[in-house]
Amino acid sequence: MKSVRAIIYDAGRTLLRPRLESPDIWEFLSGQLGVEFARERPLPDVGHYFYQNMMGKYDSDARARGFWRSYYVKAMHEAGVDETNDRLEAAANALYDWYQRPEHWVMYPEVPEMLQRVQALGLRQGVISDWGTDLVPMLHAHDVSDYLEFVVASAAVGAAKPHPDIFHYALARAGLSANEVLYIGDSYISDVLGARTVGIAAVLIDREQRAPEVDCPVVTSLLDVLELIEP
Ligand SMILES: [Mg+2]
Repeated sequence: MKSVRAIIYDAGRTLLRPRLESPDIWEFLSGQLGVEFARERPLPDVGHYFYQNMMGKYDSDARARGFWRSYYVKAMHEAGVDETNDRLEAAANALYDWYQRPEHWVMYPEVPEMLQRVQALGLRQGVISDWGTDLVPMLHAHDVSDYLEFVVASAAVGAAKPHPDIFHYALARAGLSANEVLYIGDSYISDVLGARTVGIAAVLIDREQRAPEVDCPVVTSLLDVLELIEP
């Protein structure tokens, strides 16, 4: 991969993760509704729910909010919460709002070093993400914007992964050819297969080493990608 001129990153679970874990989410919803939840109750598998309902459709702020609202309402229904749908939706909306705030997200520890080292190699860097239009201020608040030449959020451009349009948009905007780019993401379907729809090579980041065997390079830290691109 010596012809790589740019690294493009997915955002969620690639550069940053939410601060809340599942017990805190139950506590948040419990606080909203005044209902007690078992904090140790697992949340429904969000990846599975996303692929069933939202794959390729995360292309506006309204749809992003609608997806998360329906996911949290489903979780509360499955937990047996006996409240009106309006109340459940209000609690879910409050949780979505909570996630809009940058301080409720955490950068993975190796991100600053990765961005600095890639920049030092003379490569360009950007982000393509299924995210609301709050992604730019989110990344800015985490002090990484200076390294990023472009940030393409699905809700801002009206196209979501794994459809080719969002990748084409980013390439056109950056003036890059697909074969000059390496894309890194944590979802095989959205990120690896999505990037391939336009001919971009992709690396899967699998921090928890849970992915089945796949037909692309797999790393557990962003820094491992440097070994793939450095001569
Ligand atoms: Mg992701």
